[in-house]
Amino acid sequence: THFGFETVPESEKEARVAGVFSNVAASYDTMNDFMSLGIHRLWKDHFVRSLNPGSSTSSNSGGWKMLDIAGGTGDIAFRLLDHATNINNSPSSTITISDINPSMLAEGKKRSLATSYANSPRLSFLVANAEELNTVESNSIDLYTVAFGIRNFTDKEKALREAYRVLKPGGVFACLEFSGVTNPIFDAIYKRWSFSAIPLIGQLVAGDRASYQYLVESIEKFPKQEEFKDMIKNAGFLVPGKGWEDLTGGIAAIHKGIKP
Ligand code: SAM
Repeated sequence: THFGFETVPESEKEARVAGVFSNVAASYDTMNDFMSLGIHRLWKDHFVRSLNPGSSTSSNSGGWKMLDIAGGTGDIAFRLLDHATNINNSPSSTITISDINPSMLAEGKKRSLATSYANSPRLSFLVANAEELNTVESNSIDLYTVAFGIRNFTDKEKALREAYRVLKPGGVFACLEFSGVTNPIFDAIYKRWSFSAIPLIGQLVAGDRASYQYLVESIEKFPKQEEFKDMIKNAGFLVPGKGWEDLTGGIAAIHKGIKP
């Protein structure tokens, strides 16, 4: 494309991604609603319900220790805490929202003030690259989540190895990400929509066409269901069943892995 993101060398990709998310931080939540017609909320609700955080298992009766990577403005983290608290009566479950971008985390912190978790020890924030979670102890996490984040990582294999390292044996890796539409006709319609409408909405609503052009291209380039499942396996995880669940015809998919 004439924005040339494909030709950005790997070494510069990280800075480029940082720029994209700094530009979109304030408008990020509104844009998600516009671009997905609100459907991302349903996907996120379903993702969290399927993980059933805070449910009692023998290894973590003291509550789940959760890590939401690329957590951005906290969409997944607040849902996880709500579910643990309200559904599973687990007020001792905790979460760390981690993101490489301080502007996104700042929005998350701002949003947390409107929740009951504001300034609570159950919620913490960590600026970190998912590829190097140096301050997170090995074998310490019950649930690692990453939603709409991993496709932006420079070295996805490295991030998966870090996920594996920080999880406890029996701990769960869970990823919600854009994926491949399985029906060819629906795929053609979807590609039309995303390649034309999303950059335009970005321009009109956020005044930033290039960042949203990048988002569409990063979706297109990310490995599809089967290939991503193999990456998770190659990092050492056990993959239950087929390995993924398609959402809305494969526009997004949930992948899970268990650390043996
Ligand atoms: N998980 C949130 C959600 O579902 O609404 C935010 C998703 S947002 C599309 C992607 C996030 O990934 C951004 O906040 C960005 O800063 C973060 N990110 C990009 N590269 C990263 C990396 N290498 N390590 C950690 N976070 C990263």
